[in-house]
Amino acid sequence: MKFKFKSFAASKSRRGRTQKGELTEQGLQMGDEFVPAEQIVLATYQAIAHDSIPARTMMIHVLSEESGKPLAMPLQISGNPGPARRLAERICVVSSAARAAARRAGMAEQGREGAFRSAICPSCGVTIDLTEAARSQEVWCPYCDMAFDPADGADNKQLHVCPRCGLYSELREYTWLFVLILVVAYYVSSQRRLECLRCMRRSAWQMVGANFLFVFGLPFALVQLFRAYLSGGSTVRELDGANHLAGKGHDEEAGRRYEDLAGILIPSAPVRYNHAISICRADRLEQAIVKLKEALAVCSNFKPAHVLLCRCYETTGRTQELAAQTEQWIDPLLGYNMPIAEQA
Ligand SMILES: [Zn+2]
Ligand SMILES: [Zn+2]
Repeated sequence: MKFKFKSFAASKSRRGRTQKGELTEQGLQMGDEFVPAEQIVLATYQAIAHDSIPARTMMIHVLSEESGKPLAMPLQISGNPGPARRLAERICVVSSAARAAARRAGMAEQGREGAFRSAICPSCGVTIDLTEAARSQEVWCPYCDMAFDPADGADNKQLHVCPRCGLYSELREYTWLFVLILVVAYYVSSQRRLECLRCMRRSAWQMVGANFLFVFGLPFALVQLFRAYLSGGSTVRELDGANHLAGKGHDEEAGRRYEDLAGILIPSAPVRYNHAISICRADRLEQAIVKLKEALAVCSNFKPAHVLLCRCYETTGRTQELAAQTEQWIDPLLGYNMPIAEQA
């Protein structure tokens, strides 16, 4: 896969100059610099400026040979966001497979190849190294934040955390549009959003309200409103219903629904996590700890549950459990034990 980029390199001769790059199975060629695939941990791309990072920036996280920790290498990618996003996804697929293969080869040299375990994410296609994780029914993908049951491929629901409400559900991409046309001027505002159906419904009603007076954007807003109400399978609708109750503070009724859903929905770890979040919001941290332990028993490398469990231990003063949880946790992306202070 070939691409063009500008480097943010410190040297004046290279900064700002468009260079050629290529991704192969062996690694990433960036101008005259080559990074082997097994040294790349993660590649992300953001099309719009955010958090002091300029628009169209790709972050390549490369393992430092000295510290063994990832260092961010920013590149400005030329061209449309679509191909740049696919390039970032492909870098993750190639590098995760190369790191897993290197790990397997290293273990084979020590006569431990049988202990190597891995899974392929059905959503983004990366290879997830599970060697250090306890055996569990479900697996969490650290690249696309999705839990899945490798044995139940077709039945897995693609549940991701909603950026608006912070709960797991199926997400939908839609366009927020506001059109204002006056006699001599017009104003159009549009934005791509990815949200769960519950949040999308709220946004769609707001869009209908905002466009109501000026009519022009109303047909579009009504289409999004129908999409928000009519899409989604029955179990996901039930999950949205439980999330809705949790959002309204009806944590006991939400809890009953989460319990029922945990028995039928695949994957169940995100359902248990949502349940724990609703209990945390009701300030019943001891019960949230039980739910988070259940989530980790079902999906041992599920990082969001681990991070929330550590916070619950911290808040309730359970220092020994916090130390034990942190000590045994191997970060699923980095493959090493990560101190709580460095966890996102
Ligand atoms: Zn994935
Ligand atoms: Zn949401």
